Amino acid sequence: MRFRDPRLARRVADRIRKLAPPYQLRFCHVCGTHEWTITHYGIRSLLPETLDVIAGPGCPVCVTPASDIDALVSLALQGVSILTFGDVIRVPGSEMSLQDAKAQGGDVRVVYGVSDAVKMARREPERDFVFFAVGFETTAPSTALEVLGRPPENLSFLVAHRLIPPAMELLLGIGDLHIDGFIAPGHVSTVIGMKPYRIFPEAYRMPTVIAGFEPLDVLFGILMLLRQIRRGEAKLENEYVRSVSWEGNIKAQRIISDAFNVSSGHWRGLGRLPSSALTLKEKFSRYDARRKYNIKDEASRDLLPGCLCHLIMIGKIKPPECPLFMKACTPQSPRGACMVSSEGTCSIWAKHAATGKHLP
Ligand code: SF4
Repeated sequence: MRFRDPRLARRVADRIRKLAPPYQLRFCHVCGTHEWTITHYGIRSLLPETLDVIAGPGCPVCVTPASDIDALVSLALQGVSILTFGDVIRVPGSEMSLQDAKAQGGDVRVVYGVSDAVKMARREPERDFVFFAVGFETTAPSTALEVLGRPPENLSFLVAHRLIPPAMELLLGIGDLHIDGFIAPGHVSTVIGMKPYRIFPEAYRMPTVIAGFEPLDVLFGILMLLRQIRRGEAKLENEYVRSVSWEGNIKAQRIISDAFNVSSGHWRGLGRLPSSALTLKEKFSRYDARRKYNIKDEASRDLLPGCLCHLIMIGKIKPPECPLFMKACTPQSPRGACMVSSEGTCSIWAKHAATGKHLP
């Protein structure tokens, strides 16, 4: 495959090593799939020692606040049927996960998409269902489409969609993180386009490159960032031209804005970020599980004792720096959300640590 050609990858890595300055640089991506590619293909091992790539909060399941899980656990134990994606049911709440609630007799079901949730609710009109809508700008259009399509009244939505650019801004506000360039996520960018990232070069003078998910995409993205730095530039560039346009997917953006308002939102372990969440518009309030079940945004225990997910999610540490990594916390017995989801940094590193393959 063209974007996995090992000879070309070695040539790009050579260019990177030649262009890298002698001082330390740190590039940050915000995408679980980028972390998987970087870890799986051993990209960090191809980079010079002076160049580090860190992972930001790019795993949608990992940033889901414990308060939402707690609310769903409580509803499940009261007889409401909870529908969500596979990874989510193992995410810890303050006390219990949805899997624990299921073990105690709660009706918690895994669905592959929101349309399955709609079908299920139609098939069982005597039951009340809540669909837990998790994900970034990539999954929000599917939720919006179903909300706009008049789903059955026995289905409501606990919307926990989050937006990526505000999380990137949060990282820039963390003084001792010292990010020198952003690798922006390809999937999210296919929906939102390039425009929302303008703020990073314009307001923060931060070189930003949107990159795809193949190993050569990531290597080219890193090379493009280095070129900007060598020239003293801070620009927004697009490596993923085969999928991402300036405007993005206008239709998907319109669907999102028809169904949702943008509001502040709590990110697990990171606190409340302004303009970082989607909430259902007033006209769809009958589908809003927060209203229907009077769910308050209450303080909750986002991190179990010893878990350092909040530092993992901002790239401050790498998984082996957590004392629990692969000891008290494993993919089979996760202590934190970062070890649960296939897009979580701890889970990705754990799976590769298990094979001994390609870890730096
Ligand atoms: S290894 Fe486990 S306990 Fe440590 S930060 Fe990751 S998820 Fe939390």
